Amino acid sequence: MIRTPLLLSLAIASAVPACIFAQTSDPQSPQERIAQMLNESPGAWTPAQLANMERLRDAALTDPYALTELRHLTDNIGPRLAGSPQAQHAVEWVADEMRALGATVTIEKTTVPRWVRGQETAELTSWPGMTPKTTQKIVLTALGGSVATPRDGVNAPVLVVDSFADLKALSKDAVKGKILLFNEHFDKGLAAQGRGDAAYGEAVLYRGAAPSVAASMGAIATLVRSVGGADYRLPHTGMTYYSPGLPKIPSAAVTAEDADLLKNLASQGEVQMHLTLTPETLTPVETANVIADWTGTEHPEQVVIVSGHLDSWDLATGAIDDGAGIVVSMQAIHLLQKLGIHPKRTVRFVAWMDEEQGSFGAQTYAKDYAGELKNHVGAIESDLGAGHPTGIYFQGGDTLDDWLKPLSRVLAPIGAPLLERSPETGEDINSVTEKGVPGFAPIQDSRYYFNYHHTPADTFDKVNPRELGENAAVMLVTAYALADAETPAPR
Ligand SMILES: [Zn+2]
Repeated sequence: MIRTPLLLSLAIASAVPACIFAQTSDPQSPQERIAQMLNESPGAWTPAQLANMERLRDAALTDPYALTELRHLTDNIGPRLAGSPQAQHAVEWVADEMRALGATVTIEKTTVPRWVRGQETAELTSWPGMTPKTTQKIVLTALGGSVATPRDGVNAPVLVVDSFADLKALSKDAVKGKILLFNEHFDKGLAAQGRGDAAYGEAVLYRGAAPSVAASMGAIATLVRSVGGADYRLPHTGMTYYSPGLPKIPSAAVTAEDADLLKNLASQGEVQMHLTLTPETLTPVETANVIADWTGTEHPEQVVIVSGHLDSWDLATGAIDDGAGIVVSMQAIHLLQKLGIHPKRTVRFVAWMDEEQGSFGAQTYAKDYAGELKNHVGAIESDLGAGHPTGIYFQGGDTLDDWLKPLSRVLAPIGAPLLERSPETGEDINSVTEKGVPGFAPIQDSRYYFNYHHTPADTFDKVNPRELGENAAVMLVTAYALADAETPAPR
C-alpha cells in the first residue's frame, strides 16, 4: 500500500501562513515553488473523491485480475489478427468477462479486412565472394496487406538505398526489375531516452510508403529494414499501403542484421535474391468492438472511455501490443465493481477491433455514436505497452493542465506525476478526440517496447507485473476522475 502525502500536506498548507513566502515575487524562486506545492487545491473533486482515487490506485498495484486476464488472452486465445477466428474468440471472451462483472455489454459490429500470411522465405543465390553452389538465408516477414509473389517466388538483383532522398538520385533504369531495400535506421538513441514513439514515427513512414515509392520507379518487390530497436535478428511486421494507380508489388521487412548484410554485399557487387511471399487477401469479415458500460449514477448519458485494442499482429500473442491496454482497461471496470465505486458518469470499457490494419472499429464507433460525442467527457487509450508510466498525456481545452493537477499528486507516489500535453493520445481514440472529446493516455516508458513490437517475441513474459499494475492505476485514477468530477474536463 502507498500512503499518500496529499491530505497531510493539505493540512500543512492551511497551517503555514502565506506571508512567510511573500518575500519575493519571482515566480521561479524556490519559495514560490514551495508555496505552490503546499497550496494543493482539491480541484474538481472532494476529499472523499480524492481518497477514492487513492484506493483505486493502491488496489490496481496489487490486484492480480489484469495479469490473470492477460495470461488467458495471450496464451490461451493467442494471436488475434482482426478477421481471424482467434480475434472473434477474443471478442466473445471479453464480452463474457465484462458481463460477469455486471457491466452492460454491447457488441458493436464492424467489418475488417481479412489478410492471411502465407509462406515467407528469401535466400541470396549469388553475391560477391560466395562459395559456389550455396545460398544464404535472409530473415524477413511480409508486411500487412502485402500482395504475393508468384508461388515459386521471384529472382532479381537487390538494390539498397538508405532513404527516399537516395532513391531520388537514381534513374528509373537503375531501379527497374529489382528488389528495392529501404535501409532507413530506427533511431535507437531516441528510443534509449524513452522516446521510442518518436523513433517509430520517423521510421514507420518507410514501412507504409515503400511499395508505392518503389513501384513508381519500376521495382518488382520491396523490402524495408525492420522498424524496431533490438538486435536479435527479429523481423517486425506492420501495415503497408498501396497508392491507387501504381502496380502493387510484394513487400516485406528484413531484420536489421540482414539489412546490414545486404547493404555490405551490394556495395561489393551484384546480389541476387530469391524471394517468396504468399499472403492472401480474402473477403472482408464482420466482427466487433466490445463495449461494456459501468453505468453512471447521476449522468448515465455522459461517458468516459477506457480502452485498448483487442486485435494483434499474427506473429505472436500480442501481450504488449495491445493485450496490456485491454487488460488495464478491464481492470478499471473490475476494481470499480470490487470496491463498490459508482461514479456520476458512465465508465465505458471499449475493446477496439482492428487498430493494426486501419482502425476500422474506431471509425465505426465514431459513426455510430456521432450524435452522442458531445456527451463524451473523455477518452483514454493505452497502446504503448506496459512499461512504467511516468504520468498522463492529454489533449483538450486550454485549462486542462490545471484541471488535472490533483491527479498528478495522487499518482506521484507511484512515479507517475507528469502531465504532458500531446497532439495525439491514441490511434483508436483519434476518431473521437478529433471531434473535440478530451483524450488521455499513460506516458509509458518506451525504451524497450519497440524491441518486441510487431515481432514473434511480443509475448506474455515481456510484461512486468508491477508495471502493469502501475498502468492500471493511471487508467483507473484518470477514468474515475473524469467520471466523478464536479465539473467535466475542459474541452
Ligand atoms: Zn497497438
